[in-house]
Amino acid sequence: MNPQAGQSMTYGPPPGAGGYGSQNYGPPAASQNMGYVQPPGGQYGTQPPMAKGPGGGPPQMGRPPVSAYNAGPSPPSSQQTYGQVNQNGPYSGPGPQGDSGQQQYYGQQRVPSMGGQQPLPSGYGAPQVSANSMAPPPGPSMMAQSAPPPAASRQNQLTNQMSGMNISGPPQPGVQQRPMGIPPTSMAGQRPPQPGMPVQPMYSGQPPTSQPYGTTAPPGSMGGMQQGGVPLSNMGAPPPTSMTGPPPPSSMAGPPPSSMAGPPSSMGGLPPASMAGPPSQVGGYPQQNAIQPGQQLGYGGPPSSMSGPPSSMAGPPMPGGVPPSSYPSANAYHQQPQSQSPLDSPTARAPPPMGGGMPAGAAMAMGAAGMSPAHPGMMQQPQPQQTQRRLDPDQMPSPIQVIEDDRRNRGSQQFTTNQRGQVPPLVTTEFDVVDQGNASPRFVRATVYNIPCTQDMVKQSQIPIGLVITPFAKLKPNEQPPPLVDLGVNGPIRCNRCKAYMCPFMQFIDGGRRFQCSFCNCITEVPPEYFQHLDHMGRRIDYYERPELSLGSYEFVATTDYCKNNKLPNPPVFIFMIDVTYNSVKNGMVPLLCKQLRSLLDRLPKETGQDESSMRVGFVTYDKSLHFYNVNGALAQPQMLVVSDINDVFMPLLDGFLVKLSDARPVIDSLLEQIPQMFSETRETETMLGPVVQAGLEAMKAADCCGKLFVFHSSLPIAEAPGKLKNRDDRKLLGSDKEKTVLTPQGNFYSKLAQNCVAAGCSVDLFLFPNSYVDVATIGQVCTITGGQCFKYNYFQASTDGERFIYDLTRNMERPIAFDSIMRVRTSTGIRPTDFYGSMYMSNTTDIELGSIDCDKAISVEIKHDDKLQEEVGAFVQVALLYTSITGQRRLRIHNLSFNCCNQMADMFRNCEMDAVLNLLAKHAISQVTHSSPKAIRETLINQCAHILTCYRKNCASPSSPGQLILPECMKLLPLYANSLIKSDALSGGSDITTDDRSWLMQTVSAMDVASTHVYFYPRLLPLHDLDPEGTGLPAAIRCSADRLREDGVYLLENGVSMYMWIGLHVNPDWVQNVFSAQSPAQIDIDAGKLLALDNPVSVRVRGVVQQVRQERQRYMKLTVVRQRDTLEPWFKHFLCEDKGFNGGASYVDFLCHMHKEIRNMLS
Ligand SMILES: [Zn+2]
Repeated sequence: MNPQAGQSMTYGPPPGAGGYGSQNYGPPAASQNMGYVQPPGGQYGTQPPMAKGPGGGPPQMGRPPVSAYNAGPSPPSSQQTYGQVNQNGPYSGPGPQGDSGQQQYYGQQRVPSMGGQQPLPSGYGAPQVSANSMAPPPGPSMMAQSAPPPAASRQNQLTNQMSGMNISGPPQPGVQQRPMGIPPTSMAGQRPPQPGMPVQPMYSGQPPTSQPYGTTAPPGSMGGMQQGGVPLSNMGAPPPTSMTGPPPPSSMAGPPPSSMAGPPSSMGGLPPASMAGPPSQVGGYPQQNAIQPGQQLGYGGPPSSMSGPPSSMAGPPMPGGVPPSSYPSANAYHQQPQSQSPLDSPTARAPPPMGGGMPAGAAMAMGAAGMSPAHPGMMQQPQPQQTQRRLDPDQMPSPIQVIEDDRRNRGSQQFTTNQRGQVPPLVTTEFDVVDQGNASPRFVRATVYNIPCTQDMVKQSQIPIGLVITPFAKLKPNEQPPPLVDLGVNGPIRCNRCKAYMCPFMQFIDGGRRFQCSFCNCITEVPPEYFQHLDHMGRRIDYYERPELSLGSYEFVATTDYCKNNKLPNPPVFIFMIDVTYNSVKNGMVPLLCKQLRSLLDRLPKETGQDESSMRVGFVTYDKSLHFYNVNGALAQPQMLVVSDINDVFMPLLDGFLVKLSDARPVIDSLLEQIPQMFSETRETETMLGPVVQAGLEAMKAADCCGKLFVFHSSLPIAEAPGKLKNRDDRKLLGSDKEKTVLTPQGNFYSKLAQNCVAAGCSVDLFLFPNSYVDVATIGQVCTITGGQCFKYNYFQASTDGERFIYDLTRNMERPIAFDSIMRVRTSTGIRPTDFYGSMYMSNTTDIELGSIDCDKAISVEIKHDDKLQEEVGAFVQVALLYTSITGQRRLRIHNLSFNCCNQMADMFRNCEMDAVLNLLAKHAISQVTHSSPKAIRETLINQCAHILTCYRKNCASPSSPGQLILPECMKLLPLYANSLIKSDALSGGSDITTDDRSWLMQTVSAMDVASTHVYFYPRLLPLHDLDPEGTGLPAAIRCSADRLREDGVYLLENGVSMYMWIGLHVNPDWVQNVFSAQSPAQIDIDAGKLLALDNPVSVRVRGVVQQVRQERQRYMKLTVVRQRDTLEPWFKHFLCEDKGFNGGASYVDFLCHMHKEIRNMLS
């Protein structure tokens, strides 16, 4: 019997893994309670009735609660036109499709803008195992420490609300002797369906977002040189000096080597004077301003020229306004045989509407290796005669505007999921979800909600059809978690053929005796015990009592058929593995961790109603050998067992290694108190990693349970042991065609190890504290393959980085998590999932295996057609995740989502979810880094982007001059986001960041959910200088451009990974006094790393904003203070993604112009 897949039973682990063979599923287990378990909130069953749509489809006729998103007129499905006003004048008629939404024209026509020596165990180094009681500790001391939008916007609607569109359409067995965990059976159906654990208040409410990239702390990375500064030989050797602290500030502040040094001017490094000008426009990027033919040198923006009054922007059309576009015009688009030189572009001849006719392809300057700086010099003669005014940034589609509009239109409302193909509010909008048949967008978000019927349409449009799945996403406080359904010994009802689970999309026929599967159309008999009569509408009369008939998301209690060896699982375990070499002790990590861990253990995940977590914990320390600890509660003192033969790790300890907290608290506390003392004088500098993970894995296997390893590690594993690595770092390769050699794992030791972990239901979280290269690309695999996560704290010092580390660890330990999982995405006939991105492992083409998966992890899935879809039928997706809960219960979590299908391109374009598209584009692009060249990846993206927009133009826009840039309303931010992706450190990080940071970013982005990728690629910039001290919430965000920074302003920039506070030189001294207790910006202690807790309204308010921003994200973002003109400023500015980037990355304006040109080429 093959419960999960029904198809290729692959629940079996990869070869070698002991445990669960695929044929081990046996007969049903003992009986469990039958019936649906009412969720705490009692949500279910109280839903307003709604009619189920024909075809067993989603209830389309249901009426959404009044407050629900207005299903009537669809969100503006309009288009925008950029550029000079077209000859036709603002379009207002229906498009070719007869229904193209509205369009917006941007251009001259001024429109409202938008805006880490033990007591030396006797056996150390000798026999393999030795046990000795540790020195009498100071008694079980129990120290308990507790660790821890709406913006103004301008109307941008030229839009015409096109209405009526479709949006609305609808080891050793028996090791444990303690009766630890709760007997699985007793759990069944008892607990409230709260898959998530208690949510720590601090994170409550906010949807997950991201993690601390603090690792890439600007200093470190900027000065990234320090990395290189540490001689390899020193890697392990504790050079006193280097240990004492992070690299000297000076080096940190140093501007990034070459790349930055590059064409300084081009870097937008603002010449002082430039800021002198009035705030906004002038500042920045001269490039944007058209350059006069002979004036290239002025390009860098000599102070004088920059200081012009703001009016200069608004000024007269820049003659010769040819912004140096940095994109390869020619090769970017291969189908365009006759790629023209910029000068030959149509633009040149007929001044295009884009104010200034973009000779978009003047030079290729995108950060890649060998890229010549695309700058003035490269600019071939700019087009002399342009009468048009250059493109006004204010008139280009603004993400701020889009976000604000969506908040205004759909914020603070309920989003009721009763309609097929309904596009949810943006991830940046606050809204509550009411599940009425489709999964909440927090769980599954699609790139399009109206799927083209044919493969041909998909090919033509090139819009990725896909899903971003966050199966355990945190919900808002008043949203109901998926209820838990227990159908007893027989388990869930499934389709006979495709094994899809019972869901609202199944259609009952034959008086309720059979049901037809909406995924494969197969007809299955309804088991007698599940039979129920149908009402006059053909719907089961128990419709509202059964979550699996009426909800988009719910859980089933799984039977032993769904368990390894047909045996219900044991509760999962957390094993803490601590590197105790010199580095880890010296930087304070070991003492801090051991101290905090005592209280953190009280926060082990519990299910609602549990007084104590069912989970067990274990402890290991290591350097070149492994030290296991017996913390059996019956002992007076913990015992250490040392395993020094690390070539074939085995578990020296069966009883007493994994214990339930309440059974061994005093011993554990004693251990945690002693560890720092035991290793405080260590001189060991070499460490290992492979045997560490192996040891954790063996321990879980021996205890017959799944769980997670928390590995706290400091340096490259160079000790003689399995998994020993070489230092192969060469950051100069980043950005070049050879970058893949340092971004691809060395050897396959860690990936194989990771696969063995996944097979055993073991995931690994690495907490890295490196002072030099640790090869994240290689060791990070134990995280990315097991569903784990990597945290990195470069140059960690407990005094300054401790808070961040403990915050992350706390959140990590508490967050909702599921173990030993297998996820399968089933789709209705005609489409199928083909590509998968995220932290996971796949041994075949369909089953996504996860050692664990938590609320922060998303898996993106790209879907392809293999047949034609039918508009009337729609398309269906069911995500089924089999897992072991924190209490050791085996469950299935099901998420269902229905889609509309269309034969008209316009319908698809009107129902796109740009943020999800960006998520998929980003993950796909990053997955190509180890296979392709940076240039090829960029070109592919540019090309895809142009294709999408051209497709819209051809199929959906009204006839208009080719000179006009017309963008689909739902995807008008595509050029901006695609350009930000292309310039991002994750995808294009060059030698200005470290190899490890680059690898870390790639791994991190690959597991991000939609909200996280959105803010990562388009950071949030919040003005802080004019906060209303009485206010609450966050100030309105502004666009990410230096042009928007005022010299007398202060801004907070965050991207979910890092956070900066930029302080203008002319900021009000009172503000500086209030917040920093300094008289001027120059006197601010920018190395403090945190804001002073001063007792005045401004300080309180500013700290409140910083705190709120942190809480909205998945990781603690370190705050870096950057003063205007500080050496760090260029680094700060490289996050301003509307401007030109390092290495010549194009500005938004330039990219848009380039896009425009590509589109024109494709059209002609
Ligand atoms: Zn089926």
